[in-house]
Amino acid sequence: MSALRRADYAVAIVGAGIIGLYTAYHLARAGVGPILVVDRGFLSSGASGRNGGGVRQQWETRATVRLARESVDAYRHFGREFGYNIWFRQTGYLFLAETDADLRRLRPVHDLVRSEGLRSVVLDEAGVRRYLDGIAPGAVVGGTYLATDGTLYPFPAIWGLYEAARALGVEVALGVEALGVSRDGGKVTGLPTSRGTVALTKVVNAAGGWSGSTSPTTPRGTRSWRANR
Ligand SMILES: Cc1cc2nc3c(=O)[nH]c(=O)nc-3n(C[C@H](O)[C@H](O)[C@H](O)COP(=O)(O)OP(=O)(O)OC[C@H]3O[C@@H](n4cnc5c(N)ncnc54)[C@H](O)[C@@H]3O)c2cc1C
Repeated sequence: MSALRRADYAVAIVGAGIIGLYTAYHLARAGVGPILVVDRGFLSSGASGRNGGGVRQQWETRATVRLARESVDAYRHFGREFGYNIWFRQTGYLFLAETDADLRRLRPVHDLVRSEGLRSVVLDEAGVRRYLDGIAPGAVVGGTYLATDGTLYPFPAIWGLYEAARALGVEVALGVEALGVSRDGGKVTGLPTSRGTVALTKVVNAAGGWSGSTSPTTPRGTRSWRANR
């Protein structure tokens, strides 16, 4: 278990998953500091270490399509930027439609993705078969496909970000739980953790699936997150 190095920080980030580490890295690059990242687990103990590594840009909202498009750009340059090979393979992502109704549901996503300059295509059954030749006859009526989607290995991505953030002076404290946020009136004043309370004025909640139970709601004092786990 890590001990915290300082009594005060400019900002603390709760969660050392892909979101927390990328945020720490970019804040540090922008000159923010000192930065503390706490994670109550080990590196990759959250969803960032348990996923399929699928990287797709076919989403239902403009914001997520844009975020995903920027992610693809970041992952394409990840090796050069961080010195870790994440094996990003842009082999495409195929959504299958078993019925005409399924295909109609895929249409708005396809239109949105196209409007963002990404070349998704709508396929009929024969088109699907070009990518997926083992599919049973009549099993699908079509689908949508985007060639620039792909997959990567999550672990080197997490490790590369961890190393890069630390090289920029970010303190990543693993095995340290954030217990709440101390506030005085409307202002954040500290982060109580399982290793003591640190003084700061900014906290980033990057606790992933647990982030809903880590949001401070009381205007004064410390709200415990532990009760919500
Ligand atoms: C089975 C599965 C498959 C998936 N497949 C894909 C996929 O193919 N493609 C894709 O894009 N996405 C996929 N996802 C989703 C993707 O993994 C997540 O969206 C992403 O990893 C979330 O990153 P994060 O940094 O927000 O959260 P996480 O990686 O979960 O990190 C949150 C961290 O916060 C820590 N934490 C929580 N509370 C506290 C606290 N109080 N104090 C200290 N630390 C705390 C946790 O220990 C955890 O490490 C999948 C998810 C799962 C579960």
